[in-house]
Amino acid sequence: MLGNLIYFDNAATTRMDERVLEEMLPYMRESYGNASAKYSIGYEARKAVNVARDRVAALIGANPDEIYFTSGATESNNIVLKGTEGALITSETEHPSVLNTALSLKNTSRAVALLKPDAKGKIDVKSLEDAFENTAAGRMSKGLVSVMYVNNELGTENPVAELAERAHSHEWLFHTDAVQALGHEAVDVGSIKADFLSASGHKLYGPKGTGFIYIKRGVRIPGLFNGGSQERELRPGTENVAGIVGLGKACEIARLEATESSRKEKEIGKYIKEQILSTIPDAVLNGDGTRILNFSFRGINGTSLMLRLDMEGICVSTGSACSIGKEEISHVLRSIELEKALAEGSLRISIGKYNTLDEAWILVDKIRALTEELRNLMTV
Ligand code: PMP
Repeated sequence: MLGNLIYFDNAATTRMDERVLEEMLPYMRESYGNASAKYSIGYEARKAVNVARDRVAALIGANPDEIYFTSGATESNNIVLKGTEGALITSETEHPSVLNTALSLKNTSRAVALLKPDAKGKIDVKSLEDAFENTAAGRMSKGLVSVMYVNNELGTENPVAELAERAHSHEWLFHTDAVQALGHEAVDVGSIKADFLSASGHKLYGPKGTGFIYIKRGVRIPGLFNGGSQERELRPGTENVAGIVGLGKACEIARLEATESSRKEKEIGKYIKEQILSTIPDAVLNGDGTRILNFSFRGINGTSLMLRLDMEGICVSTGSACSIGKEEISHVLRSIELEKALAEGSLRISIGKYNTLDEAWILVDKIRALTEELRNLMTV
């Protein structure tokens, strides 16, 4: 690994916090008991899982019995969408773990409606109201509205509390995929009035392969698997104790430190935005993110720019990490109807708590030089 790597792809994943790793190690070494075992190292594991559950709950203002551990947000989103009854209204800009699940449900004859975003990628309350009035799905007596908190490609934030309020006024349930908000925004299930919320540990400096669902007390859904009684039968299988401990520690750190780190992230974001837009010709900001910034550089291929930055030891991404390997323009950029020439030049810069203003300076400087070089190459 490069010693001086500059990492600006925090929406794809984050570097694990050292304190998280420290807290996890004992559960992979000496305290390796099965959390269901009735002897001391089993009890130790069970106690650690319970502490983690308390910490996750505290971060989002939930009760511990409303938290269910999963392998990540993909699983959480699948459990919620497949487990709820009735129709489904979601948006065109969701992560594939919601969008593709919605499309698969449509094939099993569940009524599904997809909301269109505005030009910045925001899903507004009016579009939800229109869907309730004008779609077959929306006219059903019960269902689920699922709209993400912060878009992973554009950084645009959705008005989730208002959307939840509209869903409830039709006596529907509300779910939000809060992967890109948790640890960066103050997420409180009480003020959003969400019935379900999904998140992943590795986006907030915790381990990969960990995540959770918040399910409001009184709301019951079946899980995807049959098995033992772990996670109150919603998610059977031996608990990933070390992973859960790491997720819990990451949530505790976020609860104590995210206000300050998010202030710093936004300051760095503001600097990058201002510098790129004012000093690089034909640069456009797609969406209106503050820490996830999606730029297009007219005439430049985003992948070429990303690869050149990688050679300079700087990590950024084009579109979302999940669409790498596919040549096509991301579904989010298509959904906001971004001109093809701009969509092909799209580059996502996502800031995290370990970034500094010095790194931002280097990043902008390199992008300025590389865009000039790539444009000159095209004119010779
Ligand atoms: N939702 C959003 C908004 C995401 O950004 C991601 C990760 N790219 C996921 C869901 C899926 O998370 P995971 O891959 O950890 O299951």
